[in-house]
Amino acid sequence: MYDPRSMAADDFIDDGEIRETLEWASANKDNRALIESILDKAELRKGLSHREASVLLECTIPDLNERIYKLANEIKNDFYGNRIVMFAPLYLSNYCVNGCVYCPYHAKNKHIPRRKLTQGEIAAEVEALQDIGHKRLAIEAGEDPVNNPIEYILESIKTIYSVKHRNGAIRRVNVNIAATTVENYRALKEAGIGTYILFQETYNKESYLKLHPTGPKHDYDYHTEAMDRAMEGGIDDVGLGVLFGLELYRYEFAGILMHAEHLEAVHGVGPHTISVPRVKRADDINPDDFDNGIDDETFLKIIACIRIAVPYTGMIISTRESKSVRERALHLGISQISGGSKTSVGGYAEDEEEDTSQFEVSDQRPLDEVVRWLIDMGYTPSFCTACYREGRTGDRFMALCKSQQIQNCCLPNALMTLKEYLIDYASPETKEKGDAMIAREIETIPNDKVREIVRERIGLIEKGERDFRF
Ligand code: SF4
Ligand code: SF4
Repeated sequence: MYDPRSMAADDFIDDGEIRETLEWASANKDNRALIESILDKAELRKGLSHREASVLLECTIPDLNERIYKLANEIKNDFYGNRIVMFAPLYLSNYCVNGCVYCPYHAKNKHIPRRKLTQGEIAAEVEALQDIGHKRLAIEAGEDPVNNPIEYILESIKTIYSVKHRNGAIRRVNVNIAATTVENYRALKEAGIGTYILFQETYNKESYLKLHPTGPKHDYDYHTEAMDRAMEGGIDDVGLGVLFGLELYRYEFAGILMHAEHLEAVHGVGPHTISVPRVKRADDINPDDFDNGIDDETFLKIIACIRIAVPYTGMIISTRESKSVRERALHLGISQISGGSKTSVGGYAEDEEEDTSQFEVSDQRPLDEVVRWLIDMGYTPSFCTACYREGRTGDRFMALCKSQQIQNCCLPNALMTLKEYLIDYASPETKEKGDAMIAREIETIPNDKVREIVRERIGLIEKGERDFRF
């Protein structure tokens, strides 16, 4: 029985409810009156239910589809302005006991080199990441209680925060590790993590069980209920995601929105972020082996509809996607992107890396080029990590975000962290363009006092001071 308040995965991701939603959405895909009424509701910027959003995703009426894209762009501007937050993944270990059929780290892959970074190697990776300008990382590790126990992850987080190379610092570590216990989530919270990210991969239980034939991840309920345990352990910023291409995208779309509704209903706070990865080629993985691949147009429509359905949730796109797809996705609601990423273990510090990549990177440009590209398109790259350091997490963050008051922090923080980046890491061309952008954007800060403080702090950054934040 569908019940968003239930703590049982089968109830809050109820298969029957998803199937009825898809039928209803399909039956109404050209119902102009209904779609217009849903869009009118969406204009209020308070979000939509999974049922309403599923109708928008199905909509076949061209002028209403245009309205969907336009609204997604407007909502993105209202909540996030022109800022794009930057991050990089850091792979700690590719040892894994699971059997996920779409990932080259699956336990049966005997030819991929296995590696686990030592604390010294992690420090070298972090130095390399700091030296290109990153301040925010997402750490990744396979599930392996022997090689990657929670103690290893906690020690690694400590190492990452301790490295200070030149003016560099990692100020926010987001964590993407397997579903675990409340106790372990509590320990991660105490270690000072930002967001806990766990991709559901697919919300279709039957497919999930087939795609995860062996290992602890086979337990669909334990995996799907992980965010509830994370929140019980005190982590109030959690990041959802599905791997598009495994199952029917419509099913995943309804499922991820139902998961968001569940978190909101039970914990009073929805997901901090939603990621939208697509299956990619990798060591022994061929994306064509999966029947449900989605084309770029469908992918972009999914992004636009998620943006409209959960306006206050950050949306992340990685370097799995090409420059051109990322460019279009930015206009439709993406608020966070990775840049200059390596998806192999030890990939940042070492030139002659063994091929331990989790997936092929489509956008291989260095960070400086990504930053310049954003500036050229009128986006402000932001290296801001202020919120969790100022205690703005969970419902506190969401309240500020929903009322759009967070904007008073985001733009000033974006400009100050961009200034740090330009001085410490940018090429002369990027620096010139970035400085011109900062000069323009400062003028748009609405509050006179805040504008003055930002001007003053940018002067101090030029003199060598770092890490100002609102
Ligand atoms: S997706 Fe994660 S759990 Fe599955 S094989 Fe890859 S690293 Fe292991
Ligand atoms: S102020 Fe908070 S919401 Fe805004 S960019 Fe910084 S960390 Fe993100």
